[in-house]
Amino acid sequence: MAGLTIDHVTKRFGEQCAVDALSLDVAPGEFVALLGPSGCGKTTMLRMLAGFESLSEGEIRLGGRTLASREQHVPPEQRNMAMVFQSYALWPHMSVADNVGYPLKLRRLDGESYRRRVAQALALVGLASYAARSPQELSGGQRQRVALARCLVTDPDVVLLDEPLANLDRHLRAAMEQSFRDFHRRTQATLVYVTHDQSEAMALADRIAVMREGRLAQWATPETLYRQPRTAWVASFIGQGSLLNVAAGRPGQRLEEAALMRGLAAVPAERTQPVLVRPEHVRVHPASPSSQDLRGRVESVTFRGERYELHLRLESGETLMAYHATALGEGQLVALTLHEGWCLEPDA
Ligand code: ATP
Repeated sequence: MAGLTIDHVTKRFGEQCAVDALSLDVAPGEFVALLGPSGCGKTTMLRMLAGFESLSEGEIRLGGRTLASREQHVPPEQRNMAMVFQSYALWPHMSVADNVGYPLKLRRLDGESYRRRVAQALALVGLASYAARSPQELSGGQRQRVALARCLVTDPDVVLLDEPLANLDRHLRAAMEQSFRDFHRRTQATLVYVTHDQSEAMALADRIAVMREGRLAQWATPETLYRQPRTAWVASFIGQGSLLNVAAGRPGQRLEEAALMRGLAAVPAERTQPVLVRPEHVRVHPASPSSQDLRGRVESVTFRGERYELHLRLESGETLMAYHATALGEGQLVALTLHEGWCLEPDA
């Protein structure tokens, strides 16, 4: 199987730079997500991979073969990639089986091998008994699975997915996440998955490329992005947490409780550092706090089933998010201990 290399790829539309010198090395069979807010260049990058868009600079290679550069452009149908769109793009007048077999017809494949491959692809997405139905008779999730079957019928090296769950409701999205994981495990294809939903990217991908304004903000596993985000911007985009100014540490350093609490007490200082504190690292002590304690006032309390989510205001004016097992009153003053913090690079 072939690895995918995105090497300093840039795409300009006139004055606008949609993708700016992006480099990623994707291992064969890896599941990667391109994640970022609207307009950060995810779809443009995906379209360049598929061959629907040319490159302004840089190179895309698959298994050492150049697919695209400024001089070269392998057409989409010769890239052995398949793309799944948000809109599914199924033909309404064709049966499910005919939709799935359509790419094979384009390749002039017929007869027994055509039928076998369509049946295999439908079985892989759990829709073997739906072959004769029309797409209109299917739910949104089932349509998305037909679109997946249609893309894997050609046995692609790389599957490109553009926000494939965007049109589904929350419950169905969770079920479809499982389908995507199964799909990936069974096909072993390299998957590039575009989304602006961080929880979806975290749940699915082996590695995530976080993009901001066309540039790569961080390229890492979901665990690293959560525990060791590089910048304040990535930290605020991934998961929940609070950014505090602390007079301790340097970017990339994990602060233990003692150093973190000392650093907080030392503010204001000449050199402070943005530090990420996740809510699970905050302990709230509701008994009347002393003047020695780090204190916060409860500003809001939200019931989240298994726990309460608190937003607190520190004496420095900064806000802090925390969890607590029982409800606290809004306006209550509490003592706080922070167990760890992660030092970030300030945003450029
Ligand atoms: P979304 O999540 O909203 O789909 P995205 O991250 O996929 O956003 P892109 O669609 O790749 O972002 O767009 C990146 C930037 O490039 C945007 O500012 C967009 O306006 C611009 N852009 C995209 N396609 C074109 C085009 N054909 N002509 C001009 N500008 C474009």
